[in-house]
Amino acid sequence: MSSTVLKIAALAGDGIGPEVMREAIKVLRVVEKKFALTVKITEAPVGWAGIDAAGKALPDATLQLCKESDCILFGSVGLPDRDPTIPKEERPERAALLRLRKEFGLFANLRPVKLPKELAHACPLSKERQGDGIDILVVRELTGGMYFGQPKKTEEISGGSGKAKIMRAIDTMVYTTPEIERIAHVAFRTARLRRKKLTSIDKANVLENGVLWRDVVTTVSREYPDVALEHMFVDNGAMQLMLRPTQFDVMLCENMFGDILSDEAAALAGSLGMLPSASLGAQSGDRAFGFYEPAGGTAPDIAGKNLANPIAQILSVALMLRHSFGLNDAAAAIENAVSAAIAAGNRTGDIFSASETNARKVGTREMGDAIAAAI
Ligand code: NAD
Repeated sequence: MSSTVLKIAALAGDGIGPEVMREAIKVLRVVEKKFALTVKITEAPVGWAGIDAAGKALPDATLQLCKESDCILFGSVGLPDRDPTIPKEERPERAALLRLRKEFGLFANLRPVKLPKELAHACPLSKERQGDGIDILVVRELTGGMYFGQPKKTEEISGGSGKAKIMRAIDTMVYTTPEIERIAHVAFRTARLRRKKLTSIDKANVLENGVLWRDVVTTVSREYPDVALEHMFVDNGAMQLMLRPTQFDVMLCENMFGDILSDEAAALAGSLGMLPSASLGAQSGDRAFGFYEPAGGTAPDIAGKNLANPIAQILSVALMLRHSFGLNDAAAAIENAVSAAIAAGNRTGDIFSASETNARKVGTREMGDAIAAAI
């Protein structure tokens, strides 16, 4: 791998984006040295930074850079207080984020939720329920299901007899076998890199989609005999996340169930600042084109103050090394360094508790330094 150049488009965006991106790049440069990699990072504006630089949330040059890169390391975009008159389709959240997802066919969303023991205080569950620490990966299908199925419309139906109009809204949940197969393969492959347990979430007791989902996932599982598969109804899955989250390793979900359960699982980690994510396109061998970003947004309330937690962005780099470049050791080095920095007592404001005797409050830069030093 050392002779290959890793081409990364780094789009920091708005708010805390540039601050946390700086720390992520700092850590990546240390990993580059330690693992004798050659990393080419090219930074480009996106979001309001793109509008300011080139009149568009996703400037043409930024999109071109992404096309020429192996993957995108993204910060976050959107500033609620900027120009409320700009049309919805031109706002950064749509014009940049959704456009990139579509452009690169990103169909698999990976959201790891890890609560280190030291941060037990940040989790809303009791210590008993946290066991030895929560460590879950939610794999969500991102381009199908109810959010995109046709027909999708709101219409007037007859029968109102001149009084109040009767309206009807229709959303369609639709999945095809190949769509389920490809996301199932992503989930099984990632389970192999973890504790080799996969819980497939569905609603097979009520939905036709659930029956097909369960059948296809079961068929795909035969190619992964080393991964233990279980099926769980989504309502029970939501409950089990609160009752016994330590039972889960990888949770595989269709689009809407994954949207809901990944946020529920995220609440267990205590802060958005701890949560990375990956959105992957088609796989080639052990590599995929990927888009890596923190789960949180631009946090305008703390932007520019050296207060943001850079861990979500730094862990996004680990996901990038693993999924876009197959560099599992380098990815693990970052994850271990994050654990070490936390174990050593470093806390940004969002994960700080005055009740911890051995912890000290640090800024964005200091947290980045501590992680870089622990690589
Ligand atoms: P937010 O995630 O930016 O902030 C919610 C809360 O979490 C805030 O109190 C914030 O300070 C805190 N927070 C978030 N990340 C943190 C970090 N790294 N360290 C410490 N604290 C952190 O959500 P919001 O306030 O609803 O949205 C602000 C803007 O971000 C909006 O314009 C929204 O559209 C945008 N947004 C963008 C993305 C994205 O680019 N993918 C995602 C979500 C929201």
